[in-house]
Amino acid sequence: MSSAELNHLHALGTFLLSAEIPHFYPDDPDYTALQASYTSNPAKPAVIIRPRSAEDVAEVVQFCSSNSSSTANGSMPCVIRAGGHDLAGRHTVADAVQIDLRLLDSVAISPDKKTARIGGGILLDALLTALEKEGLTTVVGGIGTVGYVGWATFGGYGDSVPGRGLGCDQIVAAKVVNAEGCIQEASGQMLKAIRGGGPGNWGVITELTIKIYPLQEIQAGMIIFDPSDLRGSISTYLTNYASLVRTEQVPTSLYLQPMVFNLLGMGTVFMVSFVWTGSTIGDDNCKKWQAKIAGLANCIQQTVATTTPLKKLMDTTAMLPLQVHGGTHTVTLGEYSAQAVAALVEVALSMPKDLGCGLSIHALQPCSPSSLKESKENEEEESVYNCRQPHMMLELVGFGTTEEAGLEGMNWAAEARAMLSGVDAALDWTYFSLAHPDHVDLNKMYTAEDYEVMKGLKKEVDPKGVFRYALPQVTSIASAR
Ligand SMILES: Cc1cc2nc3c(=O)[nH]c(=O)nc-3n(C[C@H](O)[C@H](O)[C@H](O)COP(=O)(O)OP(=O)(O)OC[C@H]3O[C@@H](n4cnc5c(N)ncnc54)[C@H](O)[C@@H]3O)c2cc1C
Repeated sequence: MSSAELNHLHALGTFLLSAEIPHFYPDDPDYTALQASYTSNPAKPAVIIRPRSAEDVAEVVQFCSSNSSSTANGSMPCVIRAGGHDLAGRHTVADAVQIDLRLLDSVAISPDKKTARIGGGILLDALLTALEKEGLTTVVGGIGTVGYVGWATFGGYGDSVPGRGLGCDQIVAAKVVNAEGCIQEASGQMLKAIRGGGPGNWGVITELTIKIYPLQEIQAGMIIFDPSDLRGSISTYLTNYASLVRTEQVPTSLYLQPMVFNLLGMGTVFMVSFVWTGSTIGDDNCKKWQAKIAGLANCIQQTVATTTPLKKLMDTTAMLPLQVHGGTHTVTLGEYSAQAVAALVEVALSMPKDLGCGLSIHALQPCSPSSLKESKENEEEESVYNCRQPHMMLELVGFGTTEEAGLEGMNWAAEARAMLSGVDAALDWTYFSLAHPDHVDLNKMYTAEDYEVMKGLKKEVDPKGVFRYALPQVTSIASAR
């Protein structure tokens, strides 16, 4: 750290003490636990600041921004952290000022119970816990420890996407602390950019207003296919599924997430997460679809049972290792063509045996309000999220529970990406949250017009590059300085 940066840090420490904003240095006993994140990144911020309100965030950003001339690179590097689940660990940077938003976890439900104002650092499990207590729910991803803002603003795939749409399409309004440290309501192009363009380029999101829904019970569990014939199970299921959807529309109540993971005692297993949203009393459609899906290949076990979105989220979260090494790759497919199915089978068969490694397939179905036809109709809900055609987004999870296994997982995921991105059904679009940093091409992720708007907006709202580490990097770190 340069002497200018050390002076800045010292002045920041004096300011934080006088403003009584909680903060932690590397020698603090709580620092290690606060620095830890799912995808272990050893880079240590110089200080972790834990604001308790939007006003605290504003004061910190104001300080960092107005003291920018004291450091060689402009302002002192400032990174934002919420759930800490960025797959490349980019919420942490060595010697930076880290603003940890996890204390901003409030939930305020509107009187008509159609929207909720939620804190910018809230995690998915805390959000569903607060909503379920009031008989409400919302669209979330698969793991409870992920931050809502990071999940939703990059896109947001999850169980109720077929009926309610992607996470980015749940966002009604946003409150942002801008690079000058002022609290403002996002509107116009900024709100559009927040819906699909990531959270941090335009400021720190301290609050989102999101759509919420009446709580309904769900039928959820795994449909497990014969692991002794992995090749046959995957190939038969995917081929039959492709034929099924050519003749029948999968209902909006149903979310299917095929996956291949290594299970203790069972080895490598192909299974499909089956989630049916809504009461099944007097409606045998759920049972019919469960039987239909189980009949697509040689099913050996089914665990589908009545539960709630929160319980399902907690159960899935409990199955994950606390921390992993490695990273992910992703490919998006327009359909399960014969070439795509053959490549998926090869990828699954070559998967390393560590418990952290896996392959999981999210989908945007034609029936979802987020798919092409419906999404363009409402200008008030404009978004830069550009992959609106029905698709399958593949999560190539190259993780391992040890460093060595993480390396092996990464190599496998990289080879899998190379193979799958060459098949005829591969789309020229990548889901940012799961993409390896080497394979992010923002020119392909956004329309040319939207990308120009995003770059212009970044220059306008953050000319000094206070949030120069924000994702996606719409301006390079160097040019933002
Ligand atoms: C185990 C696991 C499961 C996942 N499951 C799904 C899934 O089911 N569906 C899906 O679509 N994605 C999923 N993801 C991807 C996940 O949604 C993204 O990685 C998401 O960005 C993580 O957000 P976070 O707050 O947990 O992480 P962080 O690393 O804390 O934040 C991610 C990025 O957003 C920025 N940021 C976060 N909050 C704010 C804010 N309020 N203001 C400004 N900037 C902010 C951070 O600076 C960082 O750059 C999963 C990831 C993991 C590791």
